[in-house]
Amino acid sequence: MLPSTVRVREVGPRDGFQNEPEIIATEDKLRLIELLGGSGLRRIELTSFVRADVIPQLADAAEVLERAQLPADVDRSVLVPNERGLDAAFEHRDCFEEINVFLSASETHNRRNVNRSVAESLAGLERVLVRGREAGLRCEGVISTSFGCPYEGRVDPARVLGIAGTLVAAGAQEVAFGDTTGMANPIQVRNFFTRAREELGDAVELTAHFHNTRGAALANVLASLEAGIDSFESSFGELGGCPVPAGATGNVATEDLVSMLHEMGIETGVALDRLLEAARAARKVLGRALGSHLLVAGPVDWERPAA
Ligand code: ZN
Repeated sequence: MLPSTVRVREVGPRDGFQNEPEIIATEDKLRLIELLGGSGLRRIELTSFVRADVIPQLADAAEVLERAQLPADVDRSVLVPNERGLDAAFEHRDCFEEINVFLSASETHNRRNVNRSVAESLAGLERVLVRGREAGLRCEGVISTSFGCPYEGRVDPARVLGIAGTLVAAGAQEVAFGDTTGMANPIQVRNFFTRAREELGDAVELTAHFHNTRGAALANVLASLEAGIDSFESSFGELGGCPVPAGATGNVATEDLVSMLHEMGIETGVALDRLLEAARAARKVLGRALGSHLLVAGPVDWERPAA
């Protein structure tokens, strides 16, 4: 039986914006974030405390956190790459409720991304998680390339679940599994999450983070639901992506995800029309067509089907 309600974390303001080549004005980011917050989304990843010379797009992290006006029941999340990032985030401690830490399941992807081995990353992130929990923050670990690596190909699920277990032992209450370059298929996803639930137990929240690189993201969402997963990450407008492979599309669009879930009778708490307003506003700010299907086709209208 499929879950009757699903939690959706909007990752566009971090995962999405980070991959935009042109710097987005802070005022525009704030307006888009507030539109998202007004849509009923209750989890939003706002920004990341990374080095500004590495990711100039997120150099305004402190200002975004301090100024974003969101409903009180929105859980604001910040991506923290290391202890230095955590120190920077702590200067704005009252502006967020959650942190997420990330690493890749495959050695090559992790090294290319953060110039460390997986073991080195894990050791650093364990310290971040311990300090995060001590500070009363909710902690999420995100594992990239969980379903395949553009450099190494297949990634052993046992390896991914071993990393997840280490994150949970260090204090992660939630682990997200990323299909970073859209290599996953629904059978693989259903098998993976069934095994993940068995091995990691019921206490940890398991979250699916799909990219639509090869068009399989929504099929993978259904496969996850069938394995009992009820937590997803997505990005309005289908923003985001990964520089490898070139031209890759982004995270599954939040509006496409929410639309499909609602059509299936699964609640998200999101008002689709308000969410579409945010995606349209993002399209205008970025000045280009976005990958989102709903932005093109609009919501399903059962009263007035198109001729
Ligand atoms: Zn992503």
